[in-house]
Amino acid sequence: MTVNKISTITYAHELEQRYAAASRRDEFYVKEDVIYFDGNSLGLLSKRAETSLLSVLESWKTHGIDGWMQGERPWFNLSEELGASMAPLIGAEAEEVIVTGSTTSNLHQLLATFFKPAEGRTKILADELNFPTDIYAIQSQLQLHGLDPADHLIQVKSRDGQTLQTEDMIEAMTDDVAVVILSGVLYRSGQVLDMEKVTEAAHARGILVGFDLCHSIGAIPHALDDWNVDYAFWCNYKHLNGGPGATGGIYVNKKHFGTQPGLAGWFGSAKDRQFDMEHTFTPAAGAGALQMGTPNLLSAAPLIGSLELMNEVGMEAIRERSLALTAYLQELIETDLADYEFTVTSPREDAERGGHVFVVHKEAARICKALKANGVIPDFRTPNGIRLAPVALYNTFEEVLETVNILKRIMEEEQYKQFENKREVVA
Ligand SMILES: *Cc1c(COP(=O)(O)O)cnc(C)c1O
Repeated sequence: MTVNKISTITYAHELEQRYAAASRRDEFYVKEDVIYFDGNSLGLLSKRAETSLLSVLESWKTHGIDGWMQGERPWFNLSEELGASMAPLIGAEAEEVIVTGSTTSNLHQLLATFFKPAEGRTKILADELNFPTDIYAIQSQLQLHGLDPADHLIQVKSRDGQTLQTEDMIEAMTDDVAVVILSGVLYRSGQVLDMEKVTEAAHARGILVGFDLCHSIGAIPHALDDWNVDYAFWCNYKHLNGGPGATGGIYVNKKHFGTQPGLAGWFGSAKDRQFDMEHTFTPAAGAGALQMGTPNLLSAAPLIGSLELMNEVGMEAIRERSLALTAYLQELIETDLADYEFTVTSPREDAERGGHVFVVHKEAARICKALKANGVIPDFRTPNGIRLAPVALYNTFEEVLETVNILKRIMEEEQYKQFENKREVVA
């Protein structure tokens, strides 16, 4: 039997050295007997995130109510400060970013703020591949305006069931569209959309554009200001490693500062006015105006450490290592698993591929279970997708090689047949 050069441990180690700059494996809680390839669903805990969470607990312990203004990281301005640390990851200015809410609640807030159906412009354009919660939020926002989603939600079709074509998105931007909501990186295939081109085309037609960055923030660099994107929203528990249910984020382009929040609350007040306790709302000048109530500080605290770490490494280095990891994984699957009917549907072109690899197989549900039984954590996406995320900060090229070797064994020995081809409750 011949062994391909790329399938040797020597080769994996060579790659590891070449792309060592962005590896911070020692800073994370990684289990040595587990290959964790699910960082795009829930990123792992770093020691710095643990420390920053404990420090916020400590200030509660020590200062009680005075923790708002005292302690290592006073709570009153923390959402704004975290927004400022996140801004470099997405090419934004500090005041344009706020850490608040969740993906879903942030999309609701943004649509409540910026979706203003007017005569002849009443539709929202999304795509048929998006994550369900985005679609539910859009449907319910339309209904709040008395608009039937069946007529007013347009979903761009995918030609291959995996990816979207820029020209199809642009073609769907008809005169009756008010707002476009798309993802930066598609959650299944990992395709990166051309956010700049989409924004330019939408603006040329008088349409506002918002992006869901759940799978792109922390995985790819963004230049939201340069691209002139109107707004964006995301969660911080995937590539930003903020922990389960970590407080989310919102970006508002500064050209929209001053727009009255659709869902106002006292934490959206100008900081110096909030405790005037007046019944006339004075919104903050920046993205902070879109906050509602008291921030979920314990769910935001891990981000202090996590963002410090990411900013130290920098998005460019993270992206370089991430691309090398996903390219290696795709290449190995295509060469070493050629006999087993796996189809890699994440794009091969670097510019079009996000931080994970998507593989389709008709036995995907039980192959995922067999992977778990072998110490590899993927996630399964119904009906037939295996999502694998080798994360730049804590995964290695050796783990990529080992995973493909395990997959090969699972297929050769038909280990997957010991499991039912059905998803778990949380898949
Ligand atoms: C993960 C993810 C969500 C999750 O929404 P939450 O409100 O954070 O639960 C939403 N949209 C997309 C595209 C996602 O990938």
